[in-house]
Amino acid sequence: MRYLFLILLAGLVSACGTRGSSPEISALHNVRKRPIQRQETIVIDAGHGGKDGGSLSKRDAYEEKVLTLETAHMIRNSLNQLGYKTVMTRNDDTYVPLSTRAEIANSLKADLFVSIHYNYSPNRDAKGIEVYYYKEEKNPTASRIVQSKSLCDNVLRKVIALTGADSRGVKQANFAVVRETKMPAILVEAGFLSNPGERERVCDPRYQKAIARGIAQGVDQYFEALR
Ligand SMILES: [Zn+2]
Repeated sequence: MRYLFLILLAGLVSACGTRGSSPEISALHNVRKRPIQRQETIVIDAGHGGKDGGSLSKRDAYEEKVLTLETAHMIRNSLNQLGYKTVMTRNDDTYVPLSTRAEIANSLKADLFVSIHYNYSPNRDAKGIEVYYYKEEKNPTASRIVQSKSLCDNVLRKVIALTGADSRGVKQANFAVVRETKMPAILVEAGFLSNPGERERVCDPRYQKAIARGIAQGVDQYFEALR
């Protein structure tokens, strides 16, 4: 009787481990592997590009436009893994005017717009991460502004948790891409390239991945609060 039980158990384990041996079990595995498909589309905007290099230093061997594109691709992958649809405002080293970036998101009627940049300061000690939304003076309680602020809070909290970087807080500014977009929109300044220590971390793909995962998880938490 005991042997019979072991034989039956061995059969069950091998069925689980063999693809296609049982349609029900295979179907169950496939369902578990696939992420939940979300309806929301997020436009990811890699700052600068082409003739606009952003902040750069030949001596220190970095270009902001290169780092923003690398990070933007990682953000796209992280959001796709969470089941979100994504669109990039640029996929390579091309110059895209700021108004076109906003127009891409507006014409798609995207749900969110996330712009990624790296910071620069003449003060080499300046460091940390800050997240911006549009400074709306006439109508600060408009739903897009309130939602953008909430998105900033969620993204900053997650990015700081995953990177261990200093938080410089949520801020308001009149940047064209967050002003001209019609959906909740934020601009992440993900670290200072003028700070030697922070620059070294930002140039490490593992650190960039932590930034990207933090942004994606912050987006997910923002939507979770609305569901
Ligand atoms: Zn920039």
